Amino acid sequence: MTRILIIEDNKTNLSLMTYVLDKFGYVTCTATDGEEGLVVALREKPALIMCDMHMPHVDGWEFADRIKREPALMAIPLIAVTAFAMVGDRERILAAGFDGYISKPIEPEVLVARVAEFLRIGGRREGVTEEKAGVAT
Ligand code: MN
Repeated sequence: MTRILIIEDNKTNLSLMTYVLDKFGYVTCTATDGEEGLVVALREKPALIMCDMHMPHVDGWEFADRIKREPALMAIPLIAVTAFAMVGDRERILAAGFDGYISKPIEPEVLVARVAEFLRIGGRREGVTEEKAGVAT
């Protein structure tokens, strides 16, 4: 069974994503902010983490920053769930340590397709870091 962690403070979005992923055979676990997300991630060792950006306490940006420092979690694919549509957000999100993002409002078919895709590709954050290191030198 493939376990997916969903971190999202909006109950409607959380319910929708949980419902869709459960229906497609994934096992879901949830958290409502980044701090709880880190605790659940360490406990459940999910195959994929989906994270809202705007949350109280520890938001998506800080969660990405923290998970990069956790050896047990840093290789898990991390997907941002965001309403941002502005040019440049994609680069900002990837630079923050996310492997990609899914746009809100959530469309079930897109969600399932993207999750399958990211599970296949796996985490690329180490690659992103190497890219950045290459630019710096
Ligand atoms: Mn939110």
